[in-house]
Amino acid sequence: MSYLGSVSIRMEVRQEMDKIVLHSSNLTIIDAKVINSDNNLEIKSWTINDSNQFLILSLNKIVNPGENLEVFITFGGYLREDRKGYYITKSTKPTGEPMINAVTQFEATSARFMVPCFDEPQFKATWQVKLTYPTGAVGLTNTIDMESIEDGDFTSTTYKRTVKMSSYLLAIFVGDVQFKETTTKRGLRIRVYADPKNIESVDMALNASRLAVDGFEELFGIDFPMEKIDFVSVFDFEAGAMENWGLIIHRAELILGTDKEIVEVVIHELAHQWFGNLVTMKYWYQTWLNEGFATFMTAIGQTFIDGNFSQDTFHISQQEEARLKDRYRPLRSVAFDKDGSVTIQSIYYSKGSSFIRMLEKIVGTLNFYEAMRNYLSQNMYSNVKEDYLYSALEAVWKTNTNNETTLSISEFAECWTNQNSYPTVFATRTPEGVVLTQNREAPIEKNYTNYDEWGYKWDIPIWYQVAGEGSHELVWFKKDQYELEIRTEKTIIVNAESYGYYDVIYDDVSYQSIARELENNPTLYSMSTKLRLLLDLESNAYTQMIAPHSLVLIANALRNDEFPIVQEYAQTILKTTEFMINRLNEQNNEDLKIIKGFSTNTSKVLRKFYSNPSEQFGDYFKRNFKSDKEFCETLRNERNEEVTNQLVDWLNTNDSSGRKHIMGFLMFCAKNKDKVRGLVFDPSFDWTALEKSRNIQFLKILNRRNIYETREFRKFPSNEEYISRKTIIRIES
Ligand SMILES: [Zn+2]
Repeated sequence: MSYLGSVSIRMEVRQEMDKIVLHSSNLTIIDAKVINSDNNLEIKSWTINDSNQFLILSLNKIVNPGENLEVFITFGGYLREDRKGYYITKSTKPTGEPMINAVTQFEATSARFMVPCFDEPQFKATWQVKLTYPTGAVGLTNTIDMESIEDGDFTSTTYKRTVKMSSYLLAIFVGDVQFKETTTKRGLRIRVYADPKNIESVDMALNASRLAVDGFEELFGIDFPMEKIDFVSVFDFEAGAMENWGLIIHRAELILGTDKEIVEVVIHELAHQWFGNLVTMKYWYQTWLNEGFATFMTAIGQTFIDGNFSQDTFHISQQEEARLKDRYRPLRSVAFDKDGSVTIQSIYYSKGSSFIRMLEKIVGTLNFYEAMRNYLSQNMYSNVKEDYLYSALEAVWKTNTNNETTLSISEFAECWTNQNSYPTVFATRTPEGVVLTQNREAPIEKNYTNYDEWGYKWDIPIWYQVAGEGSHELVWFKKDQYELEIRTEKTIIVNAESYGYYDVIYDDVSYQSIARELENNPTLYSMSTKLRLLLDLESNAYTQMIAPHSLVLIANALRNDEFPIVQEYAQTILKTTEFMINRLNEQNNEDLKIIKGFSTNTSKVLRKFYSNPSEQFGDYFKRNFKSDKEFCETLRNERNEEVTNQLVDWLNTNDSSGRKHIMGFLMFCAKNKDKVRGLVFDPSFDWTALEKSRNIQFLKILNRRNIYETREFRKFPSNEEYISRKTIIRIES
C-alpha cells in the first residue's frame, strides 16, 4: 500500500548556505523546488544520504542570511509494516472481514519515514495537514478539521494549523473508527475513537481524561492550546501509548475497558501535553525530563479522579521499579537501536520520576509546583536542558524560604543524572550516635558500563526520623564527606517517608532498636516510612547484605500494622521467608510452591489474555484450552511439553505484541521448569518485553533468579578510599 505526499516548508536563512539538509528515509523524492523573494533560486540536484537519513538539496547559488525561502517537495512512500513511521494496523470488522487502518508512530526518529522534514526535537514548526483518504474512513491529525471535500472515492480534509511543535509529535490516523465525546469544564472537546466493535468500552478513558485535563490546566496554569484532544485505540502499536499533541494513540488494551492501568496511561499521556509537547527536551539526552515528569505527574493526576489515591504508594512503586532497572545507563544517556534510531529507555520513566520527587521534597511541594508553573510558562513552545529546570527550582526556593543554603541544585542533580545506579547508605550505631557512610554495590553484568565520573558517590538528602518524634529532618550527606555522624542516643530511621532514591542498611543493633520502637510507638511512623524499611530489608536480605533474622524481626513488628498495605507486606515477607527456609530443606518441592504463590495472579492474567487473543500463539492457545484452569493444569503436566515449547519459541521471537509479559507469567505454571530456567539464565535473552509488566513481585523474582543468584557483586571504592571529611550533626534532646 502506497501513498503520495507533498510538503512545503517555509524557512528563514540564518547563515550563508548553498544547500538544505532535511531528514528523509525510505521515501521516493519525485520533485523538489525552492522559491525565494528574487525568484532566482533553483535546486541544482538532490541527493539521498541513506546512512544519515538525509535528503540534501544543493542550490544554484549561495543564499545570504535574512532571506526567506519556501521549499516544495513531492514524494511517495509505502505504508510500513514495522510499526514505525506511517504504518498499517490490522484488525477484524464485526462481520469478520479484515480491517486495515493506517497510523503513525514517530518518536523518536520516524517522522522522516513519512515526510521529509527537520526531524529533531529542537526544530519546532507549525504544521498544517491536509489528508486525502478513502471516502467513508475517518481521517485524524493533531488539530481539528476545518473543511472536507468529497470527490468520489476520496475525501480531502484540511485541518487547522498546529501550534509550534517538534516533528516527532505529528500524527495521522486513517481508518474505520467511531468515537464517544465529552467536553472539559471550559469546553475543550475530548473524543476517544475505537473500532465499532469496541466503542462501548471507552467510557472510563473518556471520563478520566476529562477530569485529568481540568486538573492539569488548573495545576499548571496553562490551558491546552488547541481545540481538541483525540485518543485513538489501535491494535498494533509499538509502545503502550504515544502523546502526539492532540492525537494520542493507545494500544487497545491500554484504553478499552476498566483496568486501573488505563487511567494511569491516559493521565501519563495527558501530562505529556505540557511536559514534552509544550516544553520539549533539547535533544534526546533529556528524554528523561519528558518521561520522568509524565510519570511523576501521573500521581497527582490520579488524585483529580480519585481523591483517596495515594501518591506516596505510587512514588514508592516507581522507586522500586527504578531500582530493579537501574544498572546499565545513567538517566542522561542516549541508547540506539540496531537501525540507528534512538531508544526510549525504561529507566527514564521510573528513575526520572523518583529523582524529580526528591527535588520536590528538597524544595517543598508548594515551591515545587510554583517553580513548575514558571518553568512551563518560561519555556513554552521551546526546548530545554536540565539546567532550565534546576534554575526554575532554585529561583523559587531561594525567594520563598530565604534559604541560606549553599546547595546548588544542578550540582546535586549531576551525580544523580550522570551516574547509573544509586547509593546504599549504611547506618551504624556507636556509643555517641549513628554514623552514616555511603557505598554502592552492583552486579557485574554483560551490558554493564562504568560511569564513574563522580566516583560512585552521591550528594544524598538524608531524611531521618528520631524515635519518639512524629516529624522528620533533612540533612545533607555530600559526596566528598567521609562519613556523617548524627549524635543522639535515640534510635533513628533513615529515608523517612521514602522521599529519597537510595536504600539503607543498618547494623543488627539498630534493627533491634527499630523493631522495639515500631512496636512501642507504631502510630508515630508513616505508612511510607514503614514500607520503605520493609522494601530495603527485603531486597538486601535477598542479596545477602543483611541477615534474614533482621528482616523477620522488623516484619514481625509490623505484622499487625494499622496500615493494611504495610500489614499485608509484612505478612507476605514472613510467609516468603518461611518458604525460602523450607525450600532449602525440600529442594524438590520448589516448583510446586512457586506455582502456589502465583495462582491468583496467573488466573487474572489468563482472563486478560482470553479477552484479547493474540495473533498466532493466541489462536493456538484458544484452540487448545477451554479455560485458564485447564491451561495451568496442562502446563503442569509434563506430557504436554509442546505447549511449553510453543511458549518458549514465541518468547524468543521478535514479536512485540505486548503479551510477552503475560506469557512469561504463565511459564510459572509449567511443572518442568527447565525451559523457564533456560530463559531466565540465558544472558542473551531480551527481557525488555517482559519488563513492561507492572508486577513488581514478578520482576523481583526474575531479578533474583537472573542476577542475584547467578552473578558476582562488585564492590565500589569505600568512602575511606575516596574522601576524608567527616561531618557531625548534634540532636538536642
Ligand atoms: Zn511517556
